[in-house]
Amino acid sequence: MADADQLGTYRRKRDFAKTPEPAGEAAAFGPEPIFVVQKHRASHLHYDFRLEIEGVLASWAVPKSPSTNPADKRLAMRVEDHPLDYASFEGTIPEGEYGAGVVIVWDAGFYRNVTEHKGKPRSMTEGLEEGYLRLELLGKKLRGVYSLARFGRDAQERRWLLAKSRDEYADDSRDITAEEPQSVLSGKTIEEM
Ligand code: MN
Repeated sequence: MADADQLGTYRRKRDFAKTPEPAGEAAAFGPEPIFVVQKHRASHLHYDFRLEIEGVLASWAVPKSPSTNPADKRLAMRVEDHPLDYASFEGTIPEGEYGAGVVIVWDAGFYRNVTEHKGKPRSMTEGLEEGYLRLELLGKKLRGVYSLARFGRDAQERRWLLAKSRDEYADDSRDITAEEPQSVLSGKTIEEM
């Protein structure tokens, strides 16, 4: 479970009397850690990439969407940890609230941590601190190994790069977010939500 401090920033930014987003009460889903990608049409359209780590969803905002092409290095801005029950949230955050706009669950599934550093396996927590993660995604849309690498050495630095690694799921001929715009929960696109 997340301790109260870990979700402090998330809770301070939101008024739960006004937004339908969860305040965050859920415990872990199961033995396999989950990931989720939410498409969020706020002031700027972006994709929120979230990984279950130690009872919360570590989160990055990806302005240009995830890609299946290893040549695409996508900027991923680390944002505040979100509660686990955020993973199934879709709907409309009202005008005037933080992140106002429409959210759909664009992809969801499980992941395996395959992070190594100097030949040794690393936990997700170590990888977050060291600024390098390798993940095998088992989603409905995103599959195979992705890396997340932080710019620079400063742990406060919020800029990371999300990239597909070369494996059998890499595909430079697809635009997966354009081909499959719909929610994996409701089947709705962001326009239909
Ligand atoms: Mn967002």
